[in-house]
Order: sequence, then C-alpha cells, then structure tokens
Amino acid sequence: MESIFSKLQTVTENYYSGLSKLSIVPKRTVAEIKNYLESKDLVHGENIENTLEDILPWLQEGNIHVPHPGYFGLFNPATSFSAVVGDYLTALFNPQMAAYSHAQFSNEVEKLLIQFYIEKMNWPSHTTGHFTSGGSDANFTGVLCALTHHFPEYLTEGLIGLKAKPRFYVSMLAHNSFDKIAKNAGLGTSAVFKIPLNEDFSLNISALKNQIKIDRDHGYYPFLIVGTAGSTPIGSIDPLMELSEIAKKEEMWLHVDAAWAGGAIISPVIANQLQGIELADSVTADAHKWLSVPMGAGMFFCKYAETVYKTFQTEAHYMPSQNNNDPYQNSLLWSRRFIGLKVYMAFRVKGASNMAEDIEKQLYLADYLTKGLLKRGWKLPVNSALGVVVFTHEKIERFSSDELAAFHKRIIDHGNTWFSILKLKEKDYFRACITSIHTEEQHINQLFINLEEGLKQLPD
Ligand SMILES: *Cc1c(COP(=O)(O)O)cnc(C)c1O
Repeated sequence: MESIFSKLQTVTENYYSGLSKLSIVPKRTVAEIKNYLESKDLVHGENIENTLEDILPWLQEGNIHVPHPGYFGLFNPATSFSAVVGDYLTALFNPQMAAYSHAQFSNEVEKLLIQFYIEKMNWPSHTTGHFTSGGSDANFTGVLCALTHHFPEYLTEGLIGLKAKPRFYVSMLAHNSFDKIAKNAGLGTSAVFKIPLNEDFSLNISALKNQIKIDRDHGYYPFLIVGTAGSTPIGSIDPLMELSEIAKKEEMWLHVDAAWAGGAIISPVIANQLQGIELADSVTADAHKWLSVPMGAGMFFCKYAETVYKTFQTEAHYMPSQNNNDPYQNSLLWSRRFIGLKVYMAFRVKGASNMAEDIEKQLYLADYLTKGLLKRGWKLPVNSALGVVVFTHEKIERFSSDELAAFHKRIIDHGNTWFSILKLKEKDYFRACITSIHTEEQHINQLFINLEEGLKQLPD
C-alpha cells in the first residue's frame, strides 16, 4: 500500500507538471494498443505497482489527451485535483445511492448541491432534481417526464395505446441525444421535429409556431418544446422567454437543455446569458463539462416532484424503503455511484466564486482567440457567448471535406493544440472551445502559430 501511494503521488505530480508537454494526439497506434493488450495476462494476477507502471504510458499516449491546456475540443474539461480525490473516495467508500437509508450522508450531499443549483436558476424551492450519468440521461428523463405529464396512460398502456401521435420540437442545433431518446423511448425519430434556423443560426420562432399548428391540424399531439441553452456546435442560446410563451399558450412542456452552460450558472456572467431558464418545466445541466470535474456528472431538475415520481415509481420489496423518497423510485438509474462527491469536493476546496472566475477567464480566452483570428484574416460565421469559436479562412473555405480533414490533421499532428471540424448548414468550419482550467494566452498563441504555418504551406 505504502509504495503504491508514493507511486500515485509521483504520477499525480508529474501529471500536473508535465501536462502541457504531453502530446494531445495519441502516439500509439491501434495495432500497438491491441498487441499490448493481447500480451497481458488477466488470469494469474500481478503486482499492483508494476501494473500501474505498465499501463501509465498507454493512458498518456493511447487516447486523445483532453486535459492538455491546448485541447480546444469537445466539452471535456481538465479535472481539478479536489474533484479527482472526490471520485477516488466515491469508489473507495462506494455508498449505494439507490436507497436513501443506505446512503444518508451521500444523498444529503447531492440534495444540497441540487438545491444550490435550484437557487442559482431562480426556481421555486419546492422543485426537485437529481444527479444523472450525464446530459443524455437527464434529457431522457426530461422527455419521459413530459410524456408522463401529457399522457399518464402511457405508463401502463405504452405509447401504442395513445390516440394521437406525440411530437416534440427541438432546434436544428439541438443535441443529437434527442434522436436517440426518441428511438429508445418508443416515440420514433419522426416524433422529433427539428426547427429551422434564422440566418444568424438562432431558432426560428415563427417556424416553430407554424409547425405546431400544422401538426395539430394533422392529428399530432405536440407535447414538448426543447430549448437549447448553449448548443453543442456553436454555443447558441435559443430564445427561452419566447419558447416559454409558446409552451404556455400551447400547453406544452418546456425542457431546457443546458448540458454545457448550465453547470456554469455559478458565474453571474453565464447566469445572465441563461435568463429564462427559470421558466422551464425541466432542465438538464452537466457538472462534468464546465466545472472541471471528472465524467460523468449530469443533473436533472424538474418543477414537479410528483411527475418525476410517477415516471419512475416502482415497488421493490427487497429494498429498504423511505416513503417514496428513494432515488431508485425517482430516477432512471438504480444502483449508482455517489456522483455528487466530486462536485461537492470541488466546491468545498476551490469555492464556487473561484470556480466562476475560472469560467470567466475561459470566456476571456475565447474572446482573445476570436480577436486574434480576426486580426489574422480568419472569418467567423457566428459569434458565440459561451466560449465556442467557429472559424474558417478564405484559403480553405472551398476545400472539399477530405481536403479540409487533411489540412486539419497536419495542424493537430503537432500535438500541442487540438480543435475539431464542424459542419454547419452544409459547410465545414473549424471549432475551438476553451474549457480547461490550465489554458493560458500562450496556448492560444500556439494555435495561431500552428494555423499560420498551415496556411503558409498551402499554394496561393
Ligand atoms: C454534451 C451535451 C449533451 C449530452 O450530454 P452527455 O453528458 O454527453 O451525455 C446534451 N446536450 C448538450 C447541449 C450537450 O452539450
């Protein structure tokens, strides 16, 4: 034990001090990975210190290295040490969250965090919420609760028993988890209508109104509007106030998917962007995106505890019961880990106000990136307020997808910066998102250098 802890200490210290020197793109090929794995024995067991030494290089060089300060990729943050310790303790103590009486302390910690967010969203205090495996799980829960509210009979008879076909509405930039949800909930993907965008990529409100009317005339039952507050591709925010007005008038459920930005509502700057979130019936927010905690840590919030309970209620006589208050009766998961501890540790150790400052610094860095790109002749088709920067250049604008992918690969193969390719209205762009607590101006400057070098290699 002693020596494994001293090894882990060295690993951790080297990890934080050497983070920026690691290659973001994997150095090991898939063939090498498979060879390595095949060469190892899972049957006889071996010493833990040796095993740790042996697998570390593969963890460092076998995956895209997302905690690197030059990783401007998908919404995967670097994790703070306090949150990592929280996750370690979760695994060590392994409380069972399903039954309240089995994990009173842990359930109370999570309730406190949920209440903390409910206050930040300006929701009434009788509202409810719980931790989920992630945003997809929380979105799924939102759709199920909306179904329960509108079609209580579906809980016993299934969707097949409904007289009218349910339909729900998302923006064309909404997260694709809604397609999966529609398939898996038994609604079918034709139940999801994707509302077109305005020129500026915002959701077209009159298109939404028209579609609801057309669908009613055709015998559909419009039951749910999903507003995205921080779209995955560009960080855009749907007009939540207007969506809420439509939802009220049409007697539909409003779910706000704030998987990306919702966790960051601890920052007043972000809270200001998310105004209107208080009008939603349910909300998704991920802690594992902008709060620098390890995956997965999603949160689901709902104004109607009774609806959530009806959606998931079941009686298991082998479970210790607690007046219908048990997490297994009020959420999709059953056995599950103490997700909230890593979030709680991050808040306790760093403090919400310091974490909010980290988020605001990342917004500043996204602005620094935006201005630097414009100064260097790059074009930005859209302005995002949420740390996402979408860009292209006249030299690459008319590239085929293959040509752009080759150009992109040449740049990210330097290993010190990483960004993604994004398709928006049939056109390819680059997308960089600043999410890391380790990112500084120097890492953005490195991206400028890499991009300029890439352009220079192109024929005029
Ligand atoms: C990431 C994301 C999701 C999915 O969340 P997971 O935690 O990856 O399951 C849903 N919606 C939006 C807007 C997202 O950015």
